[in-house]
Amino acid sequence: MAESGTRRIKLGLVGIGKIARDQHLPALAADGRFELAATASRHATLDGVPGYHDIGTMIAGGHDLDAVSLCTPPDGRYEQAITAIDAGLHVMLEKPPATTLTEIAALAARASAKGVVLFTTWHSREAAGVEPAKAWLQGKRIDAVRITWREDIRRWHPGQEWILAAGGFGVFDPGINALSIATKILPEPMLLKSAWMEVPEGRASPLAAELEMRSGNARVDVVFDFLQTGPQTWDIEIDTDAGTLRLGLGGSILQLPGGEEQKAPDREYPRLYARFAELVASGESDVDVRPLQIVADAFMMAERRVTAPFAF
Ligand code: NAP
Repeated sequence: MAESGTRRIKLGLVGIGKIARDQHLPALAADGRFELAATASRHATLDGVPGYHDIGTMIAGGHDLDAVSLCTPPDGRYEQAITAIDAGLHVMLEKPPATTLTEIAALAARASAKGVVLFTTWHSREAAGVEPAKAWLQGKRIDAVRITWREDIRRWHPGQEWILAAGGFGVFDPGINALSIATKILPEPMLLKSAWMEVPEGRASPLAAELEMRSGNARVDVVFDFLQTGPQTWDIEIDTDAGTLRLGLGGSILQLPGGEEQKAPDREYPRLYARFAELVASGESDVDVRPLQIVADAFMMAERRVTAPFAF
């Protein structure tokens, strides 16, 4: 919360879609360090908040903005981020932070040259079980890792055609959340050994993929599936010399060997905005591309199989 007398961070929110409404707006409303000063979205506005068609007109709208938070799909975010950085604004990026590694490197360099903060967010790293899992793994021998991310695209991404277009990442859009957790909690880098992906005919991005990786001496098996009906699975299991650690529900449930399930309320987006406020105060950027690197590795290495056409 802002101390009395401290200027609040005037924020422009860009891309008023599912995640902006589900998570960003409630997190911002509950954080006294931020003032939602304006929005930019081609088709959506919010009651009581000045709304613009695009980020350029929003910045020109005279709201004395300090920062923007980009909730648009990854393709197009580079241009939006450059516009904000060149206007001297701090930038917070939804995941995946960009469509290519070169885009994010260019953004980081431009933000540094302009003296503004760039924050590549990974919301799943803020899930309740992730920090304790990382702490518990310290000093243990890791023997094997199994990552299973199976969800129903029609249920969680209804009508989001962009997700199967080029630069939309397909099943790697949710899958990168698993990779963001794994790159945070595993002590060694995850090196891709082999992979396949299934791309529906007429689409550019996959609906399913499997990756075999190594992290230190541990084999890491990854299964991503976007056509899972029935029970939905976002699990990571890690076999160690002290037993198997289980992270369930996208990192929000932690089970240690012999222990009860540990759960805590979802604080992912409040924690992201708290971190952004700290970064703005300190002037430091936080740019971590490791999850995106693994996706890029998979797109470079995977055997591609064309499957039946897909319609939402
Ligand atoms: P979404 O519902 O499609 O919303 C994105 C919004 O961005 C759209 O409503 C659209 O609003 C705007 N937009 C600007 N350019 C666009 C374009 N070329 N194509 C489509 N929309 C465009 O998507 P979302 O689920 O909120 O996801 C946005 C980002 O958040 C993605 O990177 C995703 O990975 C991430 N995310 C999503 C979730 C989730 O559960 N959905 C969870 C965590 C993170 P206008 O048409 O008004 O411009």
